[in-house]
Amino acid sequence: MSVLTLNCGSSSVKYSVYEPARRAFLARGVVERVGSADAFLKEKRGERELRLEEAAPDHVAAVRLVLRALGEGEDAPARDPRAIRAVGHRAVHGGERFAQSALITDELVRTLEELSVLAPLHNPPNLAGIRAAQALLPGVPQVAVFDTAFHQSMPRAAYLYALPLAWYERHGIRRYGFHGTSHLYVSRRAAVVLGRPLAELRLVTLHIGNGASAAAVLGGRSVDTSMGFTPLEGLVMGTRSGSIDPAIPLYVMEREQLSVAQMDKQLNKQSGLLGLTGRFNDRRDIEAAAAQGDEGCRLAIELECRALSKTIGAYAAVMGGLDAVVFTAGVGENSALIRARALQGLGFLGVRLDEEKNQAARGGKAELDIAAPGSRVRVLVIPTNEELVIAEDTLGIVEGRFGQPGFRYSFE
Ligand code: ADP
Repeated sequence: MSVLTLNCGSSSVKYSVYEPARRAFLARGVVERVGSADAFLKEKRGERELRLEEAAPDHVAAVRLVLRALGEGEDAPARDPRAIRAVGHRAVHGGERFAQSALITDELVRTLEELSVLAPLHNPPNLAGIRAAQALLPGVPQVAVFDTAFHQSMPRAAYLYALPLAWYERHGIRRYGFHGTSHLYVSRRAAVVLGRPLAELRLVTLHIGNGASAAAVLGGRSVDTSMGFTPLEGLVMGTRSGSIDPAIPLYVMEREQLSVAQMDKQLNKQSGLLGLTGRFNDRRDIEAAAAQGDEGCRLAIELECRALSKTIGAYAAVMGGLDAVVFTAGVGENSALIRARALQGLGFLGVRLDEEKNQAARGGKAELDIAAPGSRVRVLVIPTNEELVIAEDTLGIVEGRFGQPGFRYSFE
């Protein structure tokens, strides 16, 4: 028996198959170009790669393609779809309704539909994935795992903005935070790596990929996070601006006669590192160009790292100190340069990096402590594993164990 996880975006479906008995992922894959006639699927099973090409005009066709792939070959992860015990869906926005994962019912689907106003790009494809899985795997229980749930523990002072309170009441304008599944995973793993109870730790977790967010995790609970009402706020990202003076878009919209949709695109797709360099959002390109002396790329790295550093300092203040900084996701797991620069000025907090260990930590699956031996604050690199949280939440809910006293993840 296994759990299928699905992460449905507007034009892609990422998936994995987890077998709890072996505590192993049997396959991980993605269908790309969903909505087109030339969609394709790529799947990794151990060392083996599988590729299928087929039209996938919608999410039902994409999930059908996933099920077909899972049934193929000697080592088929699910030759018979009945081997799939449950389906866990990554759902982006759970609003204030969901502080933890939940069994998908008709009512939950209606709530997700209502929440689509808050996440117009994300919740509709998530819903399409849920409907597709319901149609193709009838009777198989399904669970939603929300990106926002982990941050629901934030205190009111952290999630409210200094705006007319009526906006919160009327429109739900508040900080929700995202990447919660990843922040949850790496904070729990950090406690294991440090060999200390999570309950006594003050952690700053940094999920730095194309999108990037920081969380202040105090005693295992998120007490602040950098993404806000939408994933646009906070750190400098690949193509998103992060925090800016809110008057700027108003000013530029007026000067350049831009519509709301045009400004939205500028802030989400044309800003951040891409906006600064005019060329790149991939950190590898930026680092390579900076090493060749490109001033724009050097400056972009400086802005990105300054935002990281300021956020770590702010969260240390929020938590009354700091025990460890945790780096994860594409950049956090791979870029020695960005880690070193982000921590450069934080000696006063007791952060000291071991530059050799930092250089060595790239691209592996290992969890590493890269702080210098005497550093008061530990610095960890922990590869994230959101699929594992999704799979274990799903199983826990289906088996009635989730949220009960004593429920623990296998990775804790
Ligand atoms: P997403 O947010 O799309 O899930 P990822 O977590 O996969 O993103 O991270 C993507 C980012 O990771 C890209 O900007 C890429 O440049 C960066 N990255 C991957 N490998 C390296 C590396 N070796 N050095 C620097 N950056 C890297």
